[in-house]
This record gives sequence, structure tokens and C-alpha cells, in this order.
Amino acid sequence: ESERVAVLGLGAMGRALAGALLAAGRPVTVWNRTAGKADELVARGAREAASASEAIVGTDLAVVCLLDDSTVRDTLGPIAGELSGRTIVNLTSGSPQQARDQAAWVAAHGAAYLDGGILAVPPTVGTPGAFLLYSGARDLFARVEQAVAPLGRPLWVGEDHGHAALYDIAALSGMYGLSAGAHHAVALVAAVGGDVEAFKRDVLLPWLEQMMPFSAGGAEASETIPEEYNAAMQATGLQTMIDASSEVGVADELAGHLHASLWAMRRALAVSG
Ligand code: NDP
Repeated sequence: ESERVAVLGLGAMGRALAGALLAAGRPVTVWNRTAGKADELVARGAREAASASEAIVGTDLAVVCLLDDSTVRDTLGPIAGELSGRTIVNLTSGSPQQARDQAAWVAAHGAAYLDGGILAVPPTVGTPGAFLLYSGARDLFARVEQAVAPLGRPLWVGEDHGHAALYDIAALSGMYGLSAGAHHAVALVAAVGGDVEAFKRDVLLPWLEQMMPFSAGGAEASETIPEEYNAAMQATGLQTMIDASSEVGVADELAGHLHASLWAMRRALAVSG
């Protein structure tokens, strides 16, 4: 039989994680601070623990997915004495330093620790596109890789416990930048009475798909901006875009990504002289 996995935290994400493990036929124990969130999982075969302590003691591998870092402290702190010899995989979003501090705290109580970041939303957990970042000792990752694989493709990003959190934040930043840009794009088209759905389908999505391989990276280093789209030309173009946005009455706050790109182009020009 596969190793039993405990899932601590049954928010939207914790429930999706536990559900993906169950769907893969893995034995799962679940726990949540507030009762009532486990019913559907229990109906699908999960065992519900009455306390975090009971969940941890019944398994060697615990996946923790709570609101934030302080919540993880509040949950694990009282059961520190029961952690020895176990493995904690913390998928709660946090900062790199919070991950390193958790790793040190968990190690001080005799347990192994991997920090993780989930690059999926609850409906995509366990589907082919989903993947999760992990950092911590590579041999530990190798030991738990199969156990966590049903959540999404596992990708190890380094020994430093802070790397998964940082790469996760970096990926989210890329996504939020893209969504901010898309929000602004739609606001512009709507401001002049354009057909927003047709714009998204026929212009924005095909354009983004074409440009994604080119648009990430290098904006701060002049030598990486090739002549085909040189920094002076881009700075001029970005200023035109910002001005046009004001011209049609779209809030300048929605154009923050254009200001950031303009800053990067000006900086690249200053560096290149
Ligand atoms: P939810 O708000 O749905 O759930 C929060 C969870 O934290 C609940 O289980 C809640 O328990 C628990 N919790 C909050 N405060 C405490 C506390 N003081 N003590 C014990 N438990 C507590 O959040 P999600 O499940 O969506 O997110 C969980 C983590 O997953 C977050 O770090 C989030 O950033 C990350 N994540 C979420 C994604 C998403 O799309 N949802 C995507 C990628 C990462 P209770 O039910 O008792 O309140």
C-alpha cells in the first residue's frame, strides 16, 4: 500500500490537494481547524483526524496548506513534540525567509522539511498542466516525489529552502503583470466602444501567444535588448501608449505595467550610455 499522507488545512486548496491524492488511490488523513470541511473527502475515503496532532501521529508525511506562515506556526507549534522523525511538506504560500525559518524550526524538532509552491488553482490541481515547486534537500525530495506527484508535476528548484517560495512569487508576478496588462487592454477597447470579446479572441490572445517567448527577461540589461526592438524605440512607444490611455480616459493606475516597462527601458538606455 502507498504511504498514507496527512493533509493539514482544508481550505479551497487543501481540499483540492486531498482530493487529488484520493483520486490517485492514495490513503489520506485530513484535518482542518474548523469542522465540516472534510465531509466530502471522508465520503470519498479519507480518514478525518480530530486534531492536527492526531493527523501527524498517524502518518510519516504531512502536507500543510494553511492561510499563511503565522497560521502554520500556530498549528505546528503546539505539536512540536510529535514531529520527530516525520516529514513536513509545507505548501502554504510565504516568503523565502519564512520558508528558511520554518525549515530550521522543524529540523530543531527532529523532522525533515520541504517547502513548496503550488502553480495551480484548486480546479487544476492534479490535472496535467498543474505543477508544484519544491525546495530543500534533494534526497528528501527524491523520497517524497512519488507521494506528492498526484498533486501536479513535482519540480525541485534547489537545496535552499527559500527557493520554492521565491520562484513561486516570481511566477505569480509574471502572471499578475500579464493580467494587469490584459485588464488595461480590455479597458482601452471598452473605452472606445470596441467589441471586447472579439478583441480578446482575435487580437489579444493570439498576440500574447506569439510574443510570450520574447517578452520576458532582459529589460534591465541593455545588452539583452536586441536591435530589432531597441530600448529607445520601446521607450518612445511606451510613452505613446501611456498618453493614449489617458486620452481615452482609462485610469493611469491600470497602466502600471507600462510605467514599469518604461522605467526599465530608460534604465537600459542609461546603462548603455
Ligand atoms: P482558504 O482561505 O480557502 O483556506 C485557508 C485555510 O487556512 C483553512 O483551512 C483555514 O481553516 C486555515 N486557517 C486560517 N487561519 C488559521 C489558523 N489561525 N489556525 C489554523 N488554520 C487556519 O485558502 P486556500 O486553501 O485557497 O489557500 C491555502 C494556501 O494555498 C495559501 O497559502 C494560498 O496562498 C495557497 N494557494 C492557493 C491557491 C488558490 O488558488 N486557492 C493557489 C496557490 C496557492 P478554517 O477552515 O478553520 O478557517
